[in-house]
Amino acid sequence: MNPDPATPRVFLVGAGPGSPGLLTLRAAEVLGRADLVLYDQLVPERLLDFAPPTARTVCVRDLPGQHPEKYPHIHQLLIETAQAGKTVVRLKGGDPLVFGRGGEEAEALRTAGVAYEIVPGVTAAVAAGAYLEIPLTHRNYASAVALVTGHELPNKPGNRLDWKALAAFPGTLAIYMGVARLPVIVAELLRYGKDPDTPAGIVERASWGEQRAVYSRLADLEEARRNAGLEAPGLILVGEAVRHRPPRPWFEGRPLFGRRVLVTRPSHQAGGMVRKLEHLGAVVSQLGGVEIREPADLGPLDRALEEVRDGGWDWLVFTSANGVHAVLRRLDALGRDLRDLGRVRLAAIGPKTADALREYRLRADVVPAGTFSSEGLAAALVPHVRGARVLLARANRGRDLLRKELAAVAAAVEQVTVYDQVDAVDASAAVLDAMRRGEIRYVTLPSSNIARAVLGAFDETIRGRVVRGEVKLVAISPVTGGDVRAMGYPVAAEADVFTEDGLVEAVVRLAAADGP
Ligand code: SAH
Repeated sequence: MNPDPATPRVFLVGAGPGSPGLLTLRAAEVLGRADLVLYDQLVPERLLDFAPPTARTVCVRDLPGQHPEKYPHIHQLLIETAQAGKTVVRLKGGDPLVFGRGGEEAEALRTAGVAYEIVPGVTAAVAAGAYLEIPLTHRNYASAVALVTGHELPNKPGNRLDWKALAAFPGTLAIYMGVARLPVIVAELLRYGKDPDTPAGIVERASWGEQRAVYSRLADLEEARRNAGLEAPGLILVGEAVRHRPPRPWFEGRPLFGRRVLVTRPSHQAGGMVRKLEHLGAVVSQLGGVEIREPADLGPLDRALEEVRDGGWDWLVFTSANGVHAVLRRLDALGRDLRDLGRVRLAAIGPKTADALREYRLRADVVPAGTFSSEGLAAALVPHVRGARVLLARANRGRDLLRKELAAVAAAVEQVTVYDQVDAVDASAAVLDAMRRGEIRYVTLPSSNIARAVLGAFDETIRGRVVRGEVKLVAISPVTGGDVRAMGYPVAAEADVFTEDGLVEAVVRLAAADGP
């Protein structure tokens, strides 16, 4: 078979050092149309959210065999999937061709006649440079960088590394996979005359909220590592460049650096908030709170949409972005379009809901200013809906306040369930174990329903931590805060603005008050 280079089936993709923002645009594009993602163990699983929900995802760890024996299985899976006409993304940490065996996989594909593309990634040394602010090159003291494997030791058969040349190298040494063999590496460099006072460091999880580094003179690096309790994997940096870093790199000065925050939304909805927290330096965990589904019975929604088309309702009121998407998706599924909304006036509970309408080129006639709650929406709507017929698009559960307040002035108010919320807390989730061990400090609660689902999954150990203030609950609004207290839990903070951004700001304020 002759590979058609214009339509590659396999993409050898660099995932970068960890932070999803460091994925390339091209990587996100090809992940977005993958049928299969075969990923390395060190690649954060969150990156798999860039793949379609229908894609199959396989971790190399789960293929048969121990390390070297795995390779034929990897090659076979790539080739067979591509030959079945499917698109495969082979996702590797950092760059696929820097200690990633990407070259060998490309060769196997070439031999099999499978067309491929290679997407580079930010390699660990480059990420460590940026996130620890170590200038890998500098015109005064580092005119070269060497990417070195710490795997090939002098006593290893077939060793191709020339430690004598590396000791004399006029620049920065970035040694990958070397932490476990640090004493031998240091001994080799010193044996060939490297100055024992050369500045050196070990960087762990560069670009993650947990990033850590330890520095010392080369001769003392192993001792410094041991004292700091740093273990493999990490990147060893040796050279004058290491001396020229600021006392605190920019990333470590971020307001949530190293803080452990729980986001309680299913991953396909959590993306924006998780990214914001990560940019602020946080270590983010996720726990699905509630899932959004099509209503079990679509009959009432379909009837309501017909009534809207026929002019039966004056106002259509949305209390969430989910509601907007549910209604417009259903309209589309019924083979109809925006014209059916005709002259109905639209209200949105807050800016996120109004933004969701804007995605369909619809403008909300009313969006309350200030507080984004049922109370705020009721107050904003009352002057508009006297004698009018008002339809509230809502979830299968929620508060009754809006209907009651509007019913006092409107000619008719009805609620229609446009989506179902289903509790989706997995009681066996690893993050609950992390909470039991005290590894999560802030829990964000973006709605009362989510709070109920999440707090319902807490056991006595977690409850004790919350009560003692070791785990802090942050509520999106006083209403949610009140519901949390009614469940017997203390609330550490409430957002000033009742949006996800407001929630993130509340965590930042709390973290500042908590001190380091
Ligand atoms: N292809 C990868 C390297 C794979 S070898 C790349 O281009 O980065 C694995 C080694 O990479 C680890 O032992 C460690 O030395 C280094 N590494 C990968 N990600 C890292 C990170 N975020 N911080 C520090 N070192 C990292």
